[in-house]
Amino acid sequence: QFPFGRRLPCDIYWHGVSFHDNNIFSGQVNKFPGMMETVRKITLSRAMRTMQDLFPLEYNFYPRSWILPEELSIFVDEVRVMKDSNPSWKPTFIVKPDGGCQGDGIYLIKDPNDIRLTGSTQSRPAVVQEYICKPLLMDKLKFDIRLYVLLKSLDPLEIYIAKDGLSRFCTEPYQEPTLKNLHQVFMHLTNYSLNIHSGNFIHSDSVNTGSKRTFSSILCRLSSKGADVKKLWSDIISLVIKTIIALTPELKVYYQSDIPAGKPGPTCFQILGFDILLMKNLKPVLLEVNANPSMRIEHEQELSPGVFENVPSPVDEEVKVAVIRDTLRLVDPQKKKRKDTHKKHHGIIHEHPALWEVSPWQGVDEMSSEVPPKPIPSVILCCRCQSLKQAPESREELPDAPKSPEAALPSLCLKQVFPKYSKQFSHLRLVDRVAALFIRFLGVKGTTKLGPTGFRTFIRNCKLSNSNFSMAAVDILYIDITRRWNSMGLDKESGMCLQAFVEAFFCLARKKYKSLPLHEQVSSLIEICENRLAALHGKRLLCGCG
Ligand code: ADP
Repeated sequence: QFPFGRRLPCDIYWHGVSFHDNNIFSGQVNKFPGMMETVRKITLSRAMRTMQDLFPLEYNFYPRSWILPEELSIFVDEVRVMKDSNPSWKPTFIVKPDGGCQGDGIYLIKDPNDIRLTGSTQSRPAVVQEYICKPLLMDKLKFDIRLYVLLKSLDPLEIYIAKDGLSRFCTEPYQEPTLKNLHQVFMHLTNYSLNIHSGNFIHSDSVNTGSKRTFSSILCRLSSKGADVKKLWSDIISLVIKTIIALTPELKVYYQSDIPAGKPGPTCFQILGFDILLMKNLKPVLLEVNANPSMRIEHEQELSPGVFENVPSPVDEEVKVAVIRDTLRLVDPQKKKRKDTHKKHHGIIHEHPALWEVSPWQGVDEMSSEVPPKPIPSVILCCRCQSLKQAPESREELPDAPKSPEAALPSLCLKQVFPKYSKQFSHLRLVDRVAALFIRFLGVKGTTKLGPTGFRTFIRNCKLSNSNFSMAAVDILYIDITRRWNSMGLDKESGMCLQAFVEAFFCLARKKYKSLPLHEQVSSLIEICENRLAALHGKRLLCGCG
């Protein structure tokens, strides 16, 4: 730990909270700039809404959500209309304060008028969301899944998913929400931090029992009951990739403002915690994404009244040690050096990590429906054997040794899912292309907002204004949308943020291609802009002023 900073450059920086914990100029950092802001409840809901507008069926794994206070009246109206058209619909909603965690300030309501807009936590901006009333139960208890996902690189996009995660159980038998049980948090909320305070919480030394278990133990039980676990895994992988595709546009804007392209600087990777709920029909639903998932492998135990001690938690150790170990293996700078040396000596070009990415967990198709819970002793052995500590020295001494240091390590628990399955998802990356246009016209380094001149230049260079859409109308569009977005956000920097630009872009696309579905309108306009900018660029190069 270097609480007062460190002058010598490092290969890998492990920051506690955010990219900005220390000023760094090289190496790799375990946080992306802007990740915390991007996965906050409101920002995530907005990003998911944009994707739901474009691809409603592909993004139906995220519950319908409204942002408070600004969308309160829309929420009330929409619920009334839905109830009128389907009188048997008796929904429940969950209200979650923005920026909250560990169940803080969360409550359930049956009637939109029960939203509390006063009081210390209630006056905070929040998300109100459709409550999933029929979750999958195990031993009559509701549970959720925490999966660890490594975002190894943003551009090109590289995503890995840990093959095991945690399942966190409620501590009171589940009943569908009624006015009487709405406030029973031990029945409705799966947060470990809440349930640990219930007298029913079970700390178990086994990964298959207790209030926190491995996800693989759940899969095992489901599989023994005949559930299609392969399909479940493939749905979860889709959910993760689609969610990250929804987040990348915003992340790219933050990234270019902190690490401008073409300049030497650090690169980033990040372990994210995905919270997923399974519905009764085994459909996974995204609850939220955590930028700083807890990596604790101990829990507190009360030895005698008021006396606490940290004791090892085998379930956490089983899952989390493997995630950190494999993250370090994947971002290991020595690995790149070794690969380059190998290429130089043997003239072999290896595709992406194939050289050492040999995992028993290969491909969704081959994913076994029985994912047996691994015996604990082997895991304790691997995290105690200190192979990671020994590895760098042996590498320094024997850079060309035929046996790589990884040979001594267990096979990878992190599985690459992107670009591996990129083909199935490439059509969803529309907002990424809109963000690329936005970034192109940002101009000043270090900014995340587009000024009026930048917006005008975008319109002019893409030749989007005409007799029906004058430059004066362009200015009005800019002012209208920017003013509204800036009045909603906490960010006081003036100018047009990415979401506002996306809204303006969608508005232009609708105007131009009235009869098409939204995603076709947007993709047609993107193509026009990209082509016109490419032509302009070519012209400038020809004129020698490029
Ligand atoms: P926090 O960051 O405070 O933990 P979450 O969004 O994870 O907030 O919600 C807390 C808990 O509430 C979840 O772990 C889950 O058990 C429950 N929950 C959240 N959203 C829903 C939902 N839409 N339907 C059913 N249960 C939910």
